Amino acid sequence: MLTHHPNNRVGVNRITRAAAGCSPDLFGRTNGREGVGAAGGHRHAPVIHPNDGGRSQLGASTRSTAASRLVRIARQAVVLMAALAVPTFVTAATPNPPAWTTPTAPYHLVGPIWYVGTQGLAAYLVKTRDGAILLDATMAENVPAVMRNIRATGVPLHRVKLLLVSHAHFDHAAGDAAMVRATRAAVVAGAGDVAALESGIPPGETSYGVIRFPPVSVARAVRNGDSVTLGGTTLTAIATPGHTPGCTSWTMRVVDHGHPLRVIFPCSVSVAGNRLIGNRRYPTIVADLRASIARLAREPAEVVLPFHPEQADVHARAAEHRLIAPSLLPTLMRTASEDFERELTRQRKETR
Ligand SMILES: [Zn+2]
Repeated sequence: MLTHHPNNRVGVNRITRAAAGCSPDLFGRTNGREGVGAAGGHRHAPVIHPNDGGRSQLGASTRSTAASRLVRIARQAVVLMAALAVPTFVTAATPNPPAWTTPTAPYHLVGPIWYVGTQGLAAYLVKTRDGAILLDATMAENVPAVMRNIRATGVPLHRVKLLLVSHAHFDHAAGDAAMVRATRAAVVAGAGDVAALESGIPPGETSYGVIRFPPVSVARAVRNGDSVTLGGTTLTAIATPGHTPGCTSWTMRVVDHGHPLRVIFPCSVSVAGNRLIGNRRYPTIVADLRASIARLAREPAEVVLPFHPEQADVHARAAEHRLIAPSLLPTLMRTASEDFERELTRQRKETR
C-alpha cells in the first residue's frame, strides 16, 4: 500500500525528480534549485512501506491453520518484495528547468566543435575526418532533438563513433542508452562512474533521493591523463571527482582561424545536494571536490565549454564572439570554491 513516509531509509528506494541530480548548477552557484534540492530531501514522497506490505489485503481472512500459514507466507513474501523493490519512478514533484528540454538550433563554437544540445543542457560534437565524437547526450527526452542537431551539422548518426560522458547523473547521461542505440557509438566514461552508468543508479548519497536513468554499457573506462583519438583528433581526460566519483573533464587542442587554442569541457564541481558529511557511499567526497576545484583552477584553457552552458554563458559568448576567455576558468573556480566551503559549513552545522 502507498503510504507517506518521511524518510526513505527503510530499504525501499524513493525516487523523486525533486531536484536534479546535478542540480543544474555546474559550479556550485545557487540558482534556486539547490534550495529546492534540500527541501526535496524532506518532502514526503509516496513509497511502499515494507512493514506495511499487504496488511490490509491479507490481515482479516484467516480461518484455518493452513490458511493462516499461507497468509503468513504470502505476507512475508510481500514484505520481502517491498524490501527488495527495484526503485520505481515517482512523478515529478518539482519540474526540471524548462530550458533543459527546450530545443535549440546547433551552432559552431571553435575549430571542429559544435553545440548540439538543448538550451539548458550541453551536448558538444567534435568533427573529425573519421567521424564525430559526442560529449554528453543529455536527458532521454532530448535525444531526438540532439540527433536532429547532429544531422543538421552535416554528420549522419552512424558517423558518431564515440560518446564521452561527463558524469553519471540523469540530466547528462539519461539519453546515452538511446543515443548509443541510434549511433552505435562507443561510450567512454570516468572509471569511477562506470558502475553507476551500467546500473542506471547514480553514485553517492544526496539530499534529494535517487533519480535513476536508463543504464548504458561503457566500452572504455578512463582515468586521469588517458586520451581518446579519432580521425587525428585527441581528447584527454582530467579526473575531477567530487560531484560524482567519476566526474571527468575533457580537454583538446584546436586551431581556430589560425589560432591554437586549448579547450576544456569541465565536469560539474557543485555540491548540488550531495551529502558532504557522513556520505558512506562516497566517503572522500569533501577532499575530492576541493582537489578538483583547485585542479581546474590551475588548468590553462582559452575556451571553457561546461555541460550546463549558462555557467560560462556559452550561447551569448558564441553569438558575440567572446568564447576565447583565458581567465574564465579560474574565475569560475574561485566562485565554486567559495560556494563549496559555504555549503560544507552549512552541512556541518546541520549535522552537529
Ligand atoms: Zn550532475
